[in-house]
Amino acid sequence: MGVLWLDDVRAADLETVGGKGASLGELTGAGLPVPPGFVVTAGTYRAFIEEAGIDEKLFAAMDVDPEDSAALKEASETAHELILETPFPDAVREEILAAYDDLDDGEAFVAVRSSATAEDLPDASFAGQQETFLNVQREQLLERVKECWASLFSQRAIYYRERQDFPHDAVDIAVVVQEMVDAEKSGVMFTSHPSTGEPRLIIEAAWGLGEAVVSGTVSPDNYVYDRNSDSVEEVTVADKKVKMVKDAETGETVEETVEPDRRNERVLSDDEIEALVELGERVEDHYDEPQDVEWAVADGDIYMLQSRPITTIDDDDADLEEERETETENEGDVLIRGLGASPGVVSGEVRVVTELDQLDKVGDGDVLVTEMTMPDMVPAMKRAAGIVTDEGGMTSHAAIVSRELGVPAVVGTGSGSRELVDDQVVTIDGDRGTVIEGRTEPAEPDHEPVEEVRPKTPVKPMTATEVKVNVSIPEAAERAAATGADGVGLLRMEHMVLTLGKTPERYIEEEGGEAYQDQLVDGIQGVAEEFYPRPVRVRTLDAPTDEFRTMEGGEDEPTEHNPMLGWRGIRRSLAKPGVFQHELAAFRKLYDMGYDNVELMLPLVNDADDVIKAKRLMEEAGIDIEKRNWGVMIETPASALCVEEMAAEGIDFASFGTNDLTQYTLAVDRNNEHVADRFDELHPAVLELIADTIETCREHDVDTSICGQAGSKPEMVNFLVEEGISSISANIDAVRDVQHEVKRVEQQLILDSVR
Ligand code: PEP
Ligand code: MG
Repeated sequence: MGVLWLDDVRAADLETVGGKGASLGELTGAGLPVPPGFVVTAGTYRAFIEEAGIDEKLFAAMDVDPEDSAALKEASETAHELILETPFPDAVREEILAAYDDLDDGEAFVAVRSSATAEDLPDASFAGQQETFLNVQREQLLERVKECWASLFSQRAIYYRERQDFPHDAVDIAVVVQEMVDAEKSGVMFTSHPSTGEPRLIIEAAWGLGEAVVSGTVSPDNYVYDRNSDSVEEVTVADKKVKMVKDAETGETVEETVEPDRRNERVLSDDEIEALVELGERVEDHYDEPQDVEWAVADGDIYMLQSRPITTIDDDDADLEEERETETENEGDVLIRGLGASPGVVSGEVRVVTELDQLDKVGDGDVLVTEMTMPDMVPAMKRAAGIVTDEGGMTSHAAIVSRELGVPAVVGTGSGSRELVDDQVVTIDGDRGTVIEGRTEPAEPDHEPVEEVRPKTPVKPMTATEVKVNVSIPEAAERAAATGADGVGLLRMEHMVLTLGKTPERYIEEEGGEAYQDQLVDGIQGVAEEFYPRPVRVRTLDAPTDEFRTMEGGEDEPTEHNPMLGWRGIRRSLAKPGVFQHELAAFRKLYDMGYDNVELMLPLVNDADDVIKAKRLMEEAGIDIEKRNWGVMIETPASALCVEEMAAEGIDFASFGTNDLTQYTLAVDRNNEHVADRFDELHPAVLELIADTIETCREHDVDTSICGQAGSKPEMVNFLVEEGISSISANIDAVRDVQHEVKRVEQQLILDSVR
């Protein structure tokens, strides 16, 4: 049978339905409130590859050296092609669709998840690497099932099995298809303390769908329930800035800001906690061991989405213990948990940094522990083997920079800098978000080999609109280039400058202008080389005065009431051309070295006057402005309204900096959390400025682009492609999705035009 209903599945069916399927079946059978669903069995996958005759070819392709990342990539691509391009047998197709039609009359939004039958492999995160698709409907269902099958052959999974000497053909995969719960609130629950095993039940809760908690996008509320005294022992209400919700029209999961009055409101009442505790105890009784449960509340009803044993508690079972000792190198006492912000497992000695002048104590291979990272810490972050912060979410400075650097990081631990102490040896797991006592990583390769194989296979769709990537840290160039992006749409100079430790003026005064130029040349060259001949759009310096304040020379910075409206970008460059001239000299040096792919972009211009003055300085620096590609950021309403005059001055491109364009159009400070709910890049006023600018630029043969954060959002991508933008620049993580979204919209436009 190709499909099994969760009602009919039991734990003993593990081989057929995989770990996830078996667990959900068990919970359903125990009368727990599990959303309905079915499992496409592992046998179906096996029959598919065998009957289609692709099995031999598939497993033969896996015969690779796991350390050879090119070979690994090829093996993964071959497997994906074989699986995705082989048609479904009719009988199986019909069985899956018939089962789907029984869920909510064929209208259900379902989650489609892979469920591997070898989840007992020692590294649990291996299983976690496999696919999950949310909000799937009938039209995409079969494709998604195949994609789950193909996920068995991701580069990382192949690498992992090779290193574990685990035969590739010994792993089968089932696929769980389950109705989605449109949750008002959700979270996770540990039925016993996750590290000590004490009878204290811990619940994390946030508004909206559970992905926000599981992915770490939001810091959830934390509730501790003492099972001895049957009472709520501790309630920690977090500031929950965002939530994930299902978009009513598209069914997609989208991120929304939480209504201001609910951000700091308690998610769970005492009654709801009691109800969750009761369910938690039932699950624990059923399995006879502490569980880690994902739950959701919809229309007042509680659902259990998943339950697994808590693996971090020491187990008495001697066999299991022995097995762990021999097979698992990543166990130990979890000292502290946070968000896994940058993947990889690494060990090192703790260096707690509470003041900037302590950065020198972070040496190569140490674990940097701090409240929150800042640009001045980047040199220490580069030296560090891993990073732990008290604060921050997945888009914080620590998260973005550590991801770009490929350094494993756990952020938002709450108290890491107070609980961890200097010289303590710890292992941080940037996938799971844990910090463990002791050195438990594999002795030899550290996180790097994993990083090498981690980037998704860039099977790049062909698009007419170019898709580029934003780079803030030159060290991220290699990873950025591996996305298959068409170039760099924004290389920010700020990190190269802010990491010098001195303001540009002070640096030039003490080290000389040549040295300043060389620092910039070094930073830009690395990226230009990595992408050559793909274009790299480098922006001249744009740091508000407050960012220079803590640096040497910062005392000479003017005090501004509102630095965002102040002395930054082209304003500072034109007012103090000394520093700007050195930046331009660095561009000139790069052109002389042959980096003709370098483009020059001017930030925060308002009008043609700014452009004329900058142009003069560029010419004085010996830059041939007829030959080079140069342009402006559109970040103020004035620049959008004056783009025609700027076009007359010869700009080659105009790039929307929507972070600033939104803040200045709506008068909403982008860094002010009190008005964060009003920061809307899709506001009609912002969109109108963008649309008009694109139209004017098209008339004057000026390319248009976006390099603000909004370029990574599907709704904005959709709008821009329809308006005819020339290119879109996205974050490293988003490039792949943006490529696909661009392709989808372009195809739709073509179809619409021929219909
Ligand atoms: C922007 O304003 O959208 C932009 C890309 O510049 P920054 O975020 O560096 O101000
Ligand atoms: Mg900006």
